Amino acid sequence: MKHLFPPLLPKDDLRPPVLAIAAHPDDEVIPAGAMLAWHRDQGHEVTVLHLTDGAQGDPDAKFGDIKAVRREEGREALRRLGVEDVRSLDFNDGELPETLDGITAVIREAFVEIQPQTLYSFFFSEAHRDHRAVSHAVAAASDALPAGCRCLLFGVNQVVMGGTMFDVSDYMDRKQHALAAFKSQLEYNDFALKILHRDHAATVNVEDQAVQYGELFADLSPDQMTPMLESIEPVYRRLVGDLDS
Ligand SMILES: [Zn+2]
Repeated sequence: MKHLFPPLLPKDDLRPPVLAIAAHPDDEVIPAGAMLAWHRDQGHEVTVLHLTDGAQGDPDAKFGDIKAVRREEGREALRRLGVEDVRSLDFNDGELPETLDGITAVIREAFVEIQPQTLYSFFFSEAHRDHRAVSHAVAAASDALPAGCRCLLFGVNQVVMGGTMFDVSDYMDRKQHALAAFKSQLEYNDFALKILHRDHAATVNVEDQAVQYGELFADLSPDQMTPMLESIEPVYRRLVGDLDS
């Protein structure tokens, strides 16, 4: 067994270029915004892919052109973390399982072009169908990743298993500032405060008082991605019943 509880790992051996893949504009900032800011502070190139425009994120139609609003909020949040290379794609929000081949092809192209040495995306036990679809697509395309790439898989809806943790105590102010950019989403759910508490709670086993906030990931190599997905999927089905993708 690699470890028994989330170990605090050094960030120093995380290398660029960095790629983060999200279904909706905010998925990457919620679980990994502090790490993205840390990468930029090291001078690492960071590219973010938003596969959808988040069109379903305004159920009460309060914000007019919600696609444009969420795109700009996503870009502003990343700008506050120092990330400028944001690629907004046009897959339909809520329908990613139906376009699995398309998103797999786009993700594969990004892997070939960017050759990331550090990848951030969803772990396989996410609850949202779009998040799960992206996790499947990333695994399906993982043969196009450099063999040494660190695949850091995060949880938005669910806490990841076997977590690796990085100390982000020094980045929480910037992460909170970035999360505040998601005005349309915070109108429905004050997740900025919840994330502050979740990142704090992640350090429950850390005795070093200087470490007050952590971001958690499953830490895999590319060749572990598909076997891990195949292991997790039946367990998850037994826990939550039939999945819709
Ligand atoms: Zn999402």
